[in-house]
Amino acid sequence: MKLFRGGDIVSAAEITRADLLVEGEKVQAVGAPGSFDTKAVDEIIDVSGTFVMPGLIDPHLHFNSPFMGTTTVHDYPKGTVAAAFGGVTTVIDFSTQPKGGSLLENMAQKEKEARDAYIDWSVNGILLDAGPQTLAELPQLVSEGFPTYKCFTTYKHSGRFMDDEGMLALLEATLQSGGMLMVHAENDTIIERRIRMEIQAGHFAPIYHARSRPASAEAVAIRRVVDLMREVPAPVYIVHTSAAQSVALIEEARSEGLPIHCETCTHYLALTESNLEGPQGQLYICSPPLREQKDVDGLWRAVVSGSVEVVSSDDAGVPPEDSYRIGGGRFDKVPSGLAGIEIRLAILYSEGVARRRIGLTKLVEVAAQNPARLFGMFPQKGILAPGSDADIVVYDPSVAWTMTAKELHMNTDFCAFDGWKIQGRVRSVLSRGSFVIRDGRLVGKPGAGRRVFRRLSF
Ligand code: MN
Ligand code: MN
Repeated sequence: MKLFRGGDIVSAAEITRADLLVEGEKVQAVGAPGSFDTKAVDEIIDVSGTFVMPGLIDPHLHFNSPFMGTTTVHDYPKGTVAAAFGGVTTVIDFSTQPKGGSLLENMAQKEKEARDAYIDWSVNGILLDAGPQTLAELPQLVSEGFPTYKCFTTYKHSGRFMDDEGMLALLEATLQSGGMLMVHAENDTIIERRIRMEIQAGHFAPIYHARSRPASAEAVAIRRVVDLMREVPAPVYIVHTSAAQSVALIEEARSEGLPIHCETCTHYLALTESNLEGPQGQLYICSPPLREQKDVDGLWRAVVSGSVEVVSSDDAGVPPEDSYRIGGGRFDKVPSGLAGIEIRLAILYSEGVARRRIGLTKLVEVAAQNPARLFGMFPQKGILAPGSDADIVVYDPSVAWTMTAKELHMNTDFCAFDGWKIQGRVRSVLSRGSFVIRDGRLVGKPGAGRRVFRRLSF
């Protein structure tokens, strides 16, 4: 048994000075300081002065993902190491259905890719069609522990667009099978028209990526999803909500009783479209794009109010050299996506907790407990309670450091937060009772991560 002594244990509800007892892979007990008999304890770990939190869960990231002529920078071993350094103990990757093919077969491929994972993992599906075979597969996907899958309202040009008929069919199948439909919501028609207009006007610079994908395109797409949910009220999760006005639409739908959930990502809480106008502007291209300061402020307020339930990374960095080579100076050709799997806790703590925008319990809620609940892993994950997996982050709030690509472990030499002052740092991370990071050093092993069987309970 391991005893963590003297720390402040954080849950989504409270911060308590308490000792934490770990037996094997599980949390055995949480008790008043000094209350545990240490005779049966193998190791006492002094964590005084630190916050002891449930390991973060990142339900939105892309490992080994081919995209616009390149591939995302993280595979399972590299991505899960970076994740662990960032206090993440469970990741949910995406598996894209081959065009016209079987999603289930593709999930089997992910089992192979994940053999060298350092931490626990699962996969969301990406559905490219709503044909008979896909609909027939959904119940099996859900019963095999993959109850969440995504469709797109854009990317028609690359065959990923889901039309109204398809989305309604997916909502019906979702309602029947007990799953949750994730939606990338940006209106394709508006975007394609704007891209054409900008290119015709000779506007090629990165900032026109943002101009061509306005907040209104996100709003139109969310409205359409909500209208379809009024026909078939299946659980829906809007991924990477980027604009404040989008949250208002989601709140309105929720007040009607529709089961709609809302995610934003680290970068929408910290960066703005002005980053697209800097010298490395091209490397800040992501979809939906970075917005304005009023959106950043609105999203923080929505985190506080509970309207935004989850903050994910949407880790989808591409090699910077590919961004320049493939982009060729044209915003619409740049493979979009930011690497962010490692920086979520640091940014949420520094920009959120240390700047008093949110409390630490809220951080645990949006980065651990809510992802666990909404993706079918609670209370196995997302909380440090007796019987839960001993997925633990020890965070030292007294350390101040400057973020650079060199200081991080992500597989890219571009850091979207280069030079940012960070308050607090991950000291140690345990996955199911075993150290992955110990006093800032990697001690975990590839292959230690296991697939989490997920089942929704709403
Ligand atoms: Mn997306
Ligand atoms: Mn994504």
